[in-house]
Amino acid sequence: MPHFFFHFASAAILAALLLSASACRKSTSPQDTSPASEATPSTPPTIPAPPEPALLSRAEWNAKPPVAQMTPHTPQFITIHHTGTKQNPNRSLADKLKGLQAFSQREDKLDTGKVKPAWPDVPYHYYIAVNGQIGEGREVDYVGDTNTAYDPTGHVLVTLEGSFDVEHPTAEQMASTKQLVAWLAHKYKVPSEKIKTHKDYAQTACPGQNLHNKIDELRATVNQPM
Ligand SMILES: [Zn+2]
Repeated sequence: MPHFFFHFASAAILAALLLSASACRKSTSPQDTSPASEATPSTPPTIPAPPEPALLSRAEWNAKPPVAQMTPHTPQFITIHHTGTKQNPNRSLADKLKGLQAFSQREDKLDTGKVKPAWPDVPYHYYIAVNGQIGEGREVDYVGDTNTAYDPTGHVLVTLEGSFDVEHPTAEQMASTKQLVAWLAHKYKVPSEKIKTHKDYAQTACPGQNLHNKIDELRATVNQPM
């Protein structure tokens, strides 16, 4: 047996002994229940946090404050939408968000003939433009809004610019959406089965079949142990 192998083997045995001794101490010591010791990483190793994606903040797009009181919630689902409008690479994200906010904050008649009430703010928490740029919508700690019959409490609403029964999300949009979903899922401990699209909850064409078909790709970005 080569000399170095002996050292490696004895080191491994020693490490195993130390580990089992410390595991034993952990399970039997009544003092060992402090939050600090529970926060110490143990096996299996924790997956490193995905990087926070760059985004255009509310301050940067010059958002107006909400016009009515909003309801706080704790994010536990990620729900994908589309804007239902044609992709437009020639308009700035700030301009798109200001337009969406103006529409959101007034009472308006929808294409369906239904009247939507004035909402406090944009209905979605994140907006992903056709060029992949991410914009901050409603503050994520508050419940979003919807014209359809489901309760968005606990849902982080992510919308992609486009009308995806006819258009397709761009490669840039998909890349940004994956980054955002991975970061959100890690931050709020959302398991992949709680990442769905609007039509999974309500009678709606949103987010269009071409985006709905991509949900498994988005779920695959989540690799945290549950
Ligand atoms: Zn939707």
